Amino acid sequence: MVKTKKAQFREASNPEDMPAAMLDWYDRHARTLPWRVSPEDRARGVVPDPYRVWLSEVMLQQTTVATVKAYFERFTARWPRVTDLAAEPQEEVLKEWAGLGYYARARNLHKCAQTVAADHGGAFPDTETALLELPGIGAYTAAAIASIAFDRRATVLDGNVERVMARLFAIKDPLPQSKKQLYAAADTLTPDLRPGDYAQAVMDLGATVCTPRKPACGICPLMPMCAGRQAGIAETLPRKTPKKAKPTRYGIAWVATREDGAVLLNRRPQTGLLGGMMEVPGSDWIEGIVPADTAGAPLDGPWDDAGEARHTFTHFHLILSVRRGRFAMNAEPERGKWVHRKAALAEALPTVMKKALKAGGVG
Ligand code: SF4
Repeated sequence: MVKTKKAQFREASNPEDMPAAMLDWYDRHARTLPWRVSPEDRARGVVPDPYRVWLSEVMLQQTTVATVKAYFERFTARWPRVTDLAAEPQEEVLKEWAGLGYYARARNLHKCAQTVAADHGGAFPDTETALLELPGIGAYTAAAIASIAFDRRATVLDGNVERVMARLFAIKDPLPQSKKQLYAAADTLTPDLRPGDYAQAVMDLGATVCTPRKPACGICPLMPMCAGRQAGIAETLPRKTPKKAKPTRYGIAWVATREDGAVLLNRRPQTGLLGGMMEVPGSDWIEGIVPADTAGAPLDGPWDDAGEARHTFTHFHLILSVRRGRFAMNAEPERGKWVHRKAALAEALPTVMKKALKAGGVG
């Protein structure tokens, strides 16, 4: 007869037992992350650095842990304290950020560092309310910093926690409408004891056990109380209202090279999409209409057709018609500046601009 192995961890049969079961599980299974203080160290009295917690949380918005790790190491090696980051020109921060996408985050990150340095003496405030006042910090990030960095009771609700709550309580209403319900569920479970470790425990459970597909219920400490599992619908939760199809915008990118190989680049305005980043000079991006070739080339042609560069942003697809032109040494562009080819390729350009350069034969 095959003996069923008794679970080697504490399990929760009801909501009252859930926080203790989660903390017990976390003490054994916490992920090792460069910005995290392990539960053993935390128990020994090591306190997390709010700067590192904040930086990781901002980077992790819309980006995976695997991608963030290298960026986090680079940022903290170059700027070990929030005051170091604040003292740096925004351009340098954007350069280090290149490739992480969602560049408004980088601009807000820099603004936030400057506010903490100037208005808070270089120390992050330690309450959710005060954290919410800082640039780029929304409800989730404020709760995460308050709980993880300062061990304050705060209800942290990211995608992982939403999934765990939807399944535990079999919440069938779809996201985003069910957010309040999910928040209320998460709030009732959040303990006063070790709230920082608890928040990270639920996030880790969602990332490693209660995964979007094929949750590993057999090794989950919450299985006895999981209504979604009992109803056989766990994997279908959380339900989501179908997203509207993304519109497509069209634009032109002019890849201009000079006789000596220099490439014409331009800095985008500070505000708006890819604000403050370098770009291949281009037209406006218009929904549903391909702009006319006369829509503002930086130099008088001739321009050759060099195909397309396609990219997808959060809210739209972009199709750029790429034009290629070669110019004499005395060519004076209407906007932008000539950048040595090597420097242009080393420039921290947004991915869409790298694609345009490549289509234009630079890359
Ligand atoms: Fe998720 Fe399964 Fe655990 Fe329920 S029992 S919380 S569905 S892993």
